[in-house]
Amino acid sequence: MEVNIKNSKICLIHGDITLEETDAIVNAANTSLRGGGGVDGAIHRVGGPSILEECVEKYPNGCKTGEAKITRGGLLQAMWVVHTPGPIWRGGNQNEEELLRSSYRNSFQQAEIVGATSISFPSISTGIYGYPIHKAAPLAIQTIVECLPSYSIREVHFVLFSTRDFQIYTKALTKFL
Ligand code: ADP
Repeated sequence: MEVNIKNSKICLIHGDITLEETDAIVNAANTSLRGGGGVDGAIHRVGGPSILEECVEKYPNGCKTGEAKITRGGLLQAMWVVHTPGPIWRGGNQNEEELLRSSYRNSFQQAEIVGATSISFPSISTGIYGYPIHKAAPLAIQTIVECLPSYSIREVHFVLFSTRDFQIYTKALTKFL
């Protein structure tokens, strides 16, 4: 599914983010930036050891929740990987919403700084971190729509791994048609 918003395009893709050919892909990392499970594990596996080496060298203290750090993409098609630890869902009263917004916004900004014009996001925080996807999907799309006018990035992909996630994002994006 694809939606044009002013000069930009938002695409929903049912698939694997490690195969994306956008300039940058986003990694739903943890605060250590030393690899992990889920999409983080997949990105490091496909991208090879140089991504972890760069994380260790450049970001000895990791990354705070809601912030974002960038490395090169190693063996991935994407030139850049933006690593962002999204919030762990703790019931919704621990600033989770604002932290998830920050993860999307800061990732977008990091990609923009290196000159990316296209970026792919996974569904941050909705796997192991337990953020309810029905709440996360509209928030993710809304945050990106709000960012677009101020940046040069013209193409944004949301890459959803499961059919259910893809359907939920499709419903959320339909509201912008
Ligand atoms: P978090 O810890 O932020 O919740 P996870 O990696 O556990 O991160 O999950 C985030 C989302 O990424 C989940 O919806 C999961 O299904 C999805 N995911 C896992 N592997 C991939 C992949 N290769 N490409 C895209 N999405 C993936």
